[in-house]
Amino acid sequence: MAETAQTDRPTPAGDAFDVDLFVIGGGSGGVRAARIAAGHGARVQLAEEYRVGGTCVIRGCVPKKLMVYAGRFAEEFEDAAGFGWTVPEPRFDWSVMKRRRDAEVARLETIYDTNLMRAGVDVEPQRAVIEGPHAVRLVDSGKVVRARYILVAVGARPVKLPDVPGMDLAITSNEVFELETRPERILVIGGGYIAVEFAGVFAALGSRTTLLHRGDKLLRGFDDEVREGLAEAYGKRMDLRLGRTLARLERRTTGILATLDDGDTLEVDQVLVATGRRPNVDGLGLDSVGIAPNRSGAIPVDAFSQTAVPSIYAVGDVTDRANLTPIAIREGHAFADTVFGGKAWSVDHGLIPTAVFSTPEIGTVGLTEAQAGERYGAIDVYRSSFRPMKATLSGREDRMLLKVIVDVATDRVLGVHILGHDAGEMIQAVGIAVTMGATKADFDRTIAVHPTAGEELVTMRVPAVTKRPQSVG
Ligand code: NDP
Repeated sequence: MAETAQTDRPTPAGDAFDVDLFVIGGGSGGVRAARIAAGHGARVQLAEEYRVGGTCVIRGCVPKKLMVYAGRFAEEFEDAAGFGWTVPEPRFDWSVMKRRRDAEVARLETIYDTNLMRAGVDVEPQRAVIEGPHAVRLVDSGKVVRARYILVAVGARPVKLPDVPGMDLAITSNEVFELETRPERILVIGGGYIAVEFAGVFAALGSRTTLLHRGDKLLRGFDDEVREGLAEAYGKRMDLRLGRTLARLERRTTGILATLDDGDTLEVDQVLVATGRRPNVDGLGLDSVGIAPNRSGAIPVDAFSQTAVPSIYAVGDVTDRANLTPIAIREGHAFADTVFGGKAWSVDHGLIPTAVFSTPEIGTVGLTEAQAGERYGAIDVYRSSFRPMKATLSGREDRMLLKVIVDVATDRVLGVHILGHDAGEMIQAVGIAVTMGATKADFDRTIAVHPTAGEELVTMRVPAVTKRPQSVG
């Protein structure tokens, strides 16, 4: 990997370059990098071929979370009865939700545009491709821009299942935001964040939802008990089919016929395939500078997001490190400070709090029980599973699960896993403590906030399990 350009500064105006930085891609990482670099005095141009804001703002986190909120009202209306409310038969109007959601996305897009403009970034609303270590070609205008540095922040795109006949009948997480009506029957394929979140949304909004996943548990990589708890909750809300795959899709006059690997069939109105995303490197011109994508199609970079070509950097999903918006933002910021701000720093990808906006929700930070067991000599697992207070009157059966994983040798908290209401909000705060290296003793001396679900995090005193390395017995 090339030497990092940590001490380089923007070249003064009048040099051979048109700009100090050309950013390809106006998503979370690219926008942050452009604004910070401009703030450091760099002359910055940014090209975006679709809409400024990128996947997260335009067709990801933001509109998805608004749909999650929409879906959760259904359970709130039901739960209200247990508290004495008479709620008239609630009715959901997809077109109202869509119109208001799209307006909010458009508002945010304008804010992103305005912020770039205010920072002095020149935005080109067209595709750009790399033509050399310091050259970018704007595809529509044909203009070639000479840039001292190029930042590739083009993100990733959903991929379908190429070997399944009839895949053209399926939509991805891009098209799901364009649906004009709520599908009465939907098949969601995949067991990752996107499949789990959208299956939850559609089930909550009243669609007859089937979630089909090839594995025996959803959400690979998450703590096993959280995965089991989610599957139990999802099994009550939708038709959950694990350990099965899709064989083919066929158009029928009344819908789409899906045939599974075991010959089972089901007819649905929409099929949403969410089986992963691929970096957006096709036709980007990487070959012109000798950058070879890795096996997952991503651009290889070092800790400072620098590629093998010293003048070209890459951040966000196109590098396939941790494909999350806050990570892309931080990588973009670190790049700009390092290259243009005279302050070199890199992103720690080791400890990342994250949430899955399923219902019930998941919040997680640090190691799972299985990972901690493999990496540490001995661990204590504190576990609390209970019916949340709200459910006592509402009658809802979901249980809340909180787990704290502790390294016995140092007492340090290695991981926290939460399944249940507001898990995402909780894990953000817990993430601070875990990032600071909190010990179980620190958790224990923290006063509980009563009555909350979160207080369990600081009141668990007896480990549910103590694991020792097998060699010790
Ligand atoms: P993921 O990579 O998370 O999940 C892909 C899923 O598809 C897995 O369950 C995988 O199964 C399955 N799969 C892969 N290939 C096949 C196949 N050939 N046949 C059947 N199933 C297959 O991708 P997503 O699309 O869900 O999300 C992409 C990224 O976006 C995530 O990694 C995440 O970082 C980000 N994201 C984050 C969100 C958040 O923070 N809340 C929300 C949405 C997205 P298996 O497990 O067996 O490999």
